[in-house]
Amino acid sequence: MWDTRRNDHRTIRHGAPSRTIPGPDAETGGQPSRRIPVLPGRPVTATTRRFFIENLGCPKNAVEGEGMAERLRLAGYAATDDAHDADVVIVNTCSFIQPAQEESIDRLFHYLNARRTGQKVVAAGCLAERFGDALDKDMPELDGIIGTRQWFEIDRLLAEVERGVRPCWHGADAVADPTFARHAVGPTAYVKIAEGCNMACTFCAIPSFKGAQRSKAVADVVAEVRQLVDGGAREVILVAQNTTAYGLDMAREPGTTRGSSPLARLLEAICAGVPDLPWLRVHYCYPGWVNDDLLETMARLDQVVNYLDMPLQHADPEILRAMNRPRDMRHVADVLARARTLMPDLALRTTFIAGFPGETDAHWQSVLDFMDEVRFDHVGVFTYFPEVGTPAASLGGTVPDRTRKRRQRAAMARQQEISASRTATLVGTTIDVLVEGVAEDDARASGIGGTGARLVGRTFRDAPEVDGFTVFEGTARRGQIVPVAITRSGPYDLFGHQVGFVPAALGTDHPVNGAAPRKRIGLKSLPMAQPR
Ligand code: SF4
Repeated sequence: MWDTRRNDHRTIRHGAPSRTIPGPDAETGGQPSRRIPVLPGRPVTATTRRFFIENLGCPKNAVEGEGMAERLRLAGYAATDDAHDADVVIVNTCSFIQPAQEESIDRLFHYLNARRTGQKVVAAGCLAERFGDALDKDMPELDGIIGTRQWFEIDRLLAEVERGVRPCWHGADAVADPTFARHAVGPTAYVKIAEGCNMACTFCAIPSFKGAQRSKAVADVVAEVRQLVDGGAREVILVAQNTTAYGLDMAREPGTTRGSSPLARLLEAICAGVPDLPWLRVHYCYPGWVNDDLLETMARLDQVVNYLDMPLQHADPEILRAMNRPRDMRHVADVLARARTLMPDLALRTTFIAGFPGETDAHWQSVLDFMDEVRFDHVGVFTYFPEVGTPAASLGGTVPDRTRKRRQRAAMARQQEISASRTATLVGTTIDVLVEGVAEDDARASGIGGTGARLVGRTFRDAPEVDGFTVFEGTARRGQIVPVAITRSGPYDLFGHQVGFVPAALGTDHPVNGAAPRKRIGLKSLPMAQPR
């Protein structure tokens, strides 16, 4: 049933204003795949079974991949970062839209074709949940299939696989995710606060296979954050299909009233329970559900960074009606203005979809006008993709691909100017930066962590993997948050030096001197700083 040709749709550039996969509120298609890190555990002997997991798709998938790894460690398996060494390879697939499905199929075939004698290959994740029966039928080489509703039973599934059974588990009753021990493997960690979605956006297939929303208990979320911070995480990002709907499926806490935000109570509980977490960030806020309670709580809590990610998808009421999304853009503009009043340094991020069925140039002009009015800090513009099984896929008025791309390019060009003018206002200021690594070219030239290394990190204004970088001279270690004097800005990135660091004589190609970097900035890991 699938065309398994390779596709290159899932590339993403740091700091770029758009990606090539359209994304609903919670989906961040275009993320590079993540492999499960090898963590210290039980002693590994010659008979220890080893597993390798490749995570595709969004951070929520990565969290589930981490949960599967933890289950397998408890069952006596050991992680390996070399797929060839593994006794079992698990591909944690994505099923957001067809290009993501094709990439997942590609990766499954890659491991099936490369596998050594006796090695098992298992499909997990969203593709397995949504198309488990088709995978079962069309890929008989797979040793097992396990969907997102049962990821926490991966140990039981592998026991079946080892017995020679070929399990295909998907479509189970939806239950809240169980908790599991979290291990920080870098300065930033994602925490999934709910699974499923109660909305019905017409372009999105996610609710059809993820099911209705199930929120995690406040105490469980706080415990996860505690573990991650104890392990060295300095930034925690809360994710769900719709974070602003968090808790609405649970009984309200005593004392809460209509109009109050359970997400705001969760933020308070995390900040009170983990006061040593420096940065708490929220992704995927649904327009119309961001209320005063949430904004005032964000503004009041120092640990919550002043960053609001509100995917709007469009700005024309007619198209928003066809998308089954909130269409009162005056209300949205008022909420964003209120947010900026409460948090004057707020960074705003949104996403738009270009080329939804029936969209005219005039409809798209509404998007450009809204961008001009609000002047977002970060905008992702995606071209519409008709995902099979969604109501939008059967709408008439298909917009030609070249028109979708033209509209996308126009919005990107407009946003580049806006982003450049917004980052320029930071030149001459000092701003905290979370250190993530060292620029790849300087890593070789000057040695990691040595004086003069060109370090790479992010301010609170930039979320990982989708926004910009700050590149600076300094001596900090990965995971530290240090003040950086900003001396130059690009459209998306900032440049400067760590306060107190005396820059060495700089070459003419150094960005602090105003010239472009020699090549695209990349990251090389530094050793982690000890948690404070
Ligand atoms: S249906 Fe849910 S997950 Fe899909 S775009 Fe809408 S809010 Fe986001």
